[in-house]
Amino acid sequence: MTIICPACQATLEPENGMAHCGNCGNDIALVARCPECHLPLQVLKACGAVDYFCQNGHGLISKKRVEFEPV
Ligand SMILES: [Zn+2]
Ligand SMILES: [Zn+2]
Repeated sequence: MTIICPACQATLEPENGMAHCGNCGNDIALVARCPECHLPLQVLKACGAVDYFCQNGHGLISKKRVEFEPV
């Protein structure tokens, strides 16, 4: 999935819960949401890796399935 830069409408790839726009230099903070229940996910950081956990019973969510959206 892609994020649209709110400043210049460039399409960005989210990375570790952030999106950086190389076009205008914007850093966009993203909220990770569960693809099942759309509640914000708990972010678990360990050794440089980031895992996303749904506290609503959906467990660990693969990064590919997480829905990111601008805060
Ligand atoms: Zn931009
Ligand atoms: Zn969920």
